[in-house]
Amino acid sequence: MKMLERVEENQTQIVKDYVNRLFESVRMRNPNEWEFLQAVKEVLDSLVPVLVKNPIYIKHAILERMIEPERLITFRVSWVDDKGNVKVNRGYRVQFNSAIGPYKGGLRFHPSVNASIIKFLGFEQTFKNSLTGQPIGGGKGGSDFDPKGKSDLEIMRFCQSFMTELSRHIGPDTDVPAGDIGVGAREIGYLFGQYKKLKNAYEAGVLTGKGIGYGGSLGRKEATGYGLVYFVEEMLKSQGLSFKGSTVVVSGSGNVSIYAMEKAVQFGAKVVSCSDSNGYVYDSNGINLDTVKRIKEIENKRISEYVKDHPGAVYQEGCLGIWAIPCDIALPCATQNEINKEAAEMLVSNGVKAVGEGANMPSTQEAIDTFMDHSVLFAPAKAANAGGVAVSALEMAQNSARLAWTQEEVDLKLQEIMNDIYRKSMKASEEYEVPGNLVVGANIAGFVKVANAMIEQGII
Ligand code: GLU
Repeated sequence: MKMLERVEENQTQIVKDYVNRLFESVRMRNPNEWEFLQAVKEVLDSLVPVLVKNPIYIKHAILERMIEPERLITFRVSWVDDKGNVKVNRGYRVQFNSAIGPYKGGLRFHPSVNASIIKFLGFEQTFKNSLTGQPIGGGKGGSDFDPKGKSDLEIMRFCQSFMTELSRHIGPDTDVPAGDIGVGAREIGYLFGQYKKLKNAYEAGVLTGKGIGYGGSLGRKEATGYGLVYFVEEMLKSQGLSFKGSTVVVSGSGNVSIYAMEKAVQFGAKVVSCSDSNGYVYDSNGINLDTVKRIKEIENKRISEYVKDHPGAVYQEGCLGIWAIPCDIALPCATQNEINKEAAEMLVSNGVKAVGEGANMPSTQEAIDTFMDHSVLFAPAKAANAGGVAVSALEMAQNSARLAWTQEEVDLKLQEIMNDIYRKSMKASEEYEVPGNLVVGANIAGFVKVANAMIEQGII
């Protein structure tokens, strides 16, 4: 073995030991926060080559600082249900990293929400937001409130109570929340109304995902799903493939899923399945999007309703079975860890060619390893689903300038941003000698911008 190679190997081992020690201390300090630890582990492992080349990041304790949120706020949310019962939920906002812009990230209302979920989402958001090229830091928030089955007035009262506390911590130049699971245009409207009343000022840029009539951006609703398909199409193109003529399975039936299906169909694909947290529908004729939109966006009902309008389709209880459906492209757009090793193996054995993550961290580490081992093209969430927050940043820009761009302008910018994220992630993967590994590429490209800004701004 040549001298230089031996030195390099030695360096890599030293960095790996450092990363392992660091992860061990993160594990001790954040016990039982499995999702957060999973997200941190993936990033740490993928950054080894960048740390070998740039020990300055170790010297400045960049990773130690990036893993510790700048601030984590938890608060009581009391509200009264329609029967007059007093209810108490827990609210969260994690302000993870503000090196490159105000904290930015969605709010999730779901019974599974806890500190681990909010921290994993906020940690990933920092890298994702950096990748967009927009001036936005990382944040996330939400509550263990379950919107399912709540009346419109209950939702309004909950949002108002939640915002009464959150309003002390956010602002257009401080922290800008948006939607996520369980928080859509209706909730953003109620949250914005309460913020405006409390502040006695029209600070349009304090929230994104607003209604078009009061400062929202055209194209924001569609952005995550469309962006995902733009990104995956770029990835497919690199191998001479395309959505055109392919069979696609898309989990979920919320905002991300619906618009991913819409764009995939526009690109010539046939989408045969989608789901909700109870089960999935399979329609060999292709999912009818008007039906899904009516059920989910207007009637707020379960996806099982679909078969009433389409008797040829089948509905199955449970979530894992959707990954047993043969497809060329799988787009997990439901929630974290929805694809485990078993699901990944089913997809692989049915010949899946590409997987694009629309949800945040929908694949477990074992699932990702399975895809990589079988050379399945893999588009990781931080890169592939960044279109939503990217257009949120465009909404902030429009709010600051007090003007509104057309749908076409926004969509063109979204396409440019997604292509740029693809190029950046690809370039980083090549530079660090794992060509085509977009997990590593996206983590490195997202990391470097934030890390350099942190060094330039000193130890704070
Ligand atoms: N919740 C979305 C995400 O995971 C959007 C966040 C935003 O627009 O701020 O990126």
